[in-house]
Amino acid sequence: MKLCSFRFENRPSYGMVTGSGIVDLGKRLPQTTLRDFIAAGDLSPAADLMDEAADYGFDAVRHDPVIPNPDKIICVGLNYHAHISETGREVTPYPVLFPRFSGSQVGHEQALIKPLESDKLDYEGELAVIIGKECRRVSEADALAVVAGYACYNDASVRDWQKHTHQFLPGKTFHATGPFGPWMVTADEIPDPAKLRLQTRLNGAVMQDTTTDLMVTSIPRLIAYCSTILPLLPGDVIVTGTPGGVGARRNPPVFMKEGDVCEIEISGIGVLRNRVKSEG
Ligand code: MG
Repeated sequence: MKLCSFRFENRPSYGMVTGSGIVDLGKRLPQTTLRDFIAAGDLSPAADLMDEAADYGFDAVRHDPVIPNPDKIICVGLNYHAHISETGREVTPYPVLFPRFSGSQVGHEQALIKPLESDKLDYEGELAVIIGKECRRVSEADALAVVAGYACYNDASVRDWQKHTHQFLPGKTFHATGPFGPWMVTADEIPDPAKLRLQTRLNGAVMQDTTTDLMVTSIPRLIAYCSTILPLLPGDVIVTGTPGGVGARRNPPVFMKEGDVCEIEISGIGVLRNRVKSEG
């Protein structure tokens, strides 16, 4: 099942994406957000509506980030060997984690904003894991059972601000730099998230291409580690790291500019597409 968040005539809602468009779940079910629907713990009320006529064409709505209001967005840095080596760093025994704030996210086909303060906006195609159940200290063996679904994420990064100090945060949470979409595919359709292929394209050119079995810290281990720190809640997002091929490490470097189109495609999920807009 594909679930998304959107606005239609300025009213925020969430829905199920079917062959004919979006079935508006927000106007049929008791929960008003996708996060709350996931937290209710039962997808069957949506599955029961699978044959309903779509309310809107998929392109007739304004897409919001899959989860617009997560309690936490935990990003993983340096989680593919090819990216670690292009940055000249070493593999660390524990995952590199940093936060992104929900206000930095944008939906599918919404503008990815290059801020006034930088010309070093870079793409980072990543697989996002959406948590489905509140959990603490989950074992690796049980970790995939707490996942609600998976989506594409572009952890777009303002490289000069990322490097102002040893803390990544400023470069990782600029306004409208976190595309998240176009929908989440529920976990029942992706039994093994280590068997996906991820590709990032900039204006159609392939910039990153990997399989997710190449992560340094696996998704079960990330969930076990993060849930040891504090409880994970329904709707929380773990953004699992980018593979090699980022623009900043190319020779010559490639940074995104006004009008560029960046796409993140993950097999079994779909294509997240955003056009870059310069602020101001
Ligand atoms: Mg990243």
